[in-house]
Amino acid sequence: MSTFKAPKGTYDLIPPASATYLAVRDAIATPLRRSGYGYIETPGFENVELFARGVGESTDIVTKEMYTLTTKGGDELALRPEGTASVLRAALEANLHKAGSLPVKLWYSGSYYRYERPQKGRYRHFSQVGAEAIGAEDPALDAELIILAHDAYRSLGLRNFRILLNSLGDAECRPVYRAALQDFLRGLDLDEDTRRRIDINPLRVLDDKRDAVQKQLAGAPLLRDYLCDGCREYHARVRELITAQGVVFEDDVKLVRGLDYYTRTTFEFVHDGLGSQSAVGGGGRYDGLSEMIGGPALPSVGWALGVDRTVLALEAEGVRLDLPDATSVFAVPLGEEARKVLFGLVGELRKEGVAADFAYGGKGLKAAMKAANRSGARYAIVAGERDLAEGVVQLKDMESGEQESVPLTKIVTTIQSKLG
Ligand code: ATP
Ligand code: MG
Repeated sequence: MSTFKAPKGTYDLIPPASATYLAVRDAIATPLRRSGYGYIETPGFENVELFARGVGESTDIVTKEMYTLTTKGGDELALRPEGTASVLRAALEANLHKAGSLPVKLWYSGSYYRYERPQKGRYRHFSQVGAEAIGAEDPALDAELIILAHDAYRSLGLRNFRILLNSLGDAECRPVYRAALQDFLRGLDLDEDTRRRIDINPLRVLDDKRDAVQKQLAGAPLLRDYLCDGCREYHARVRELITAQGVVFEDDVKLVRGLDYYTRTTFEFVHDGLGSQSAVGGGGRYDGLSEMIGGPALPSVGWALGVDRTVLALEAEGVRLDLPDATSVFAVPLGEEARKVLFGLVGELRKEGVAADFAYGGKGLKAAMKAANRSGARYAIVAGERDLAEGVVQLKDMESGEQESVPLTKIVTTIQSKLG
């Protein structure tokens, strides 16, 4: 052990578990790649003001969870706590919205940072894969994104997740609801902090997880009853489109989510095996965000799925991903001449796309076979001077233990056909 440990609230991804993380990222990205979403990568930090405006001054993310820093040059930066504001900033900066037809569809994958109280499923450094469709107001687009996230989870073999769906209204109907909700909340018995929240972000009070608060919220006015005709119609279309594709969801009239910029469609993916950190991903429509960060009106919709919690969900369901073995063939040379020949052979196999590894470090036969075993390789190639003199190598099936002599000139094709 070194003198240092991973910082509080973080953990390292190490083999073999790290392979699952890669597979999860890939499984989430696959449906996006085949649906017209292009990959985007933005810096790990941004001007702090982007998040203050883009995520919202009244959110926990901005007020409590952001890692902020002042550079030696005096710039005020923040490690990115989420992806949407950065992606929209980058799309606007590159004029993607002017370059082609709308929507601009993008996906991303990366690390995010929030100063939170660490616990299972809640870390200070975590990983998300996200998707954003920028510049179109179309219920089919909201539906597409929900369906793609659903498909990703299904492709991983997850079953016990639920989709919660709600509409948050728009600039026309939300203010009316907001005022009604504020009136209601002011009549409740709430602590100081929550009272303050009534003024700055009353919808978030609905999200309060405490029983004492939830009990009092029983009779709260619901946004559903305040939706304007446009929002009501839009929401009905989204529901219809996802239902038509067999995607099951639950209406959650209290779902608000943490970010200020959501309008209309809002949704969350929850997994029931995760305890209190049950949200594995979420998203929604954010029609006002572009203007909030100085851009033109660009109605958009997106989501972000948490990779860490998705991995925990797989564990909770006991799903084991069918991961390809890291190494298919392991070469064990006996003696100097064999080292040269097998090292070359390993190179050849790799060029042919076969995952191959080699017994490094001048090990004896026993230690080398142990290494072959540990590598998970399906086949070991063993060769000593006598084999080479005969122009053969020994090919050992690591599962059955059977061994056969194969001419050196045929070993690559033999392995290829055996591996299929
Ligand atoms: P929560 O209510 O659990 O705090 P959130 O609303 O802050 O979640 P989002 O901002 O919607 O989460 O982020 C999308 C997803 O990213 C979450 O559903 C979750 O899977 C993941 N996520 C968010 N914060 C963390 C964290 N601190 N550690 C691990 N994963 C996280
Ligand atoms: Mg949070």
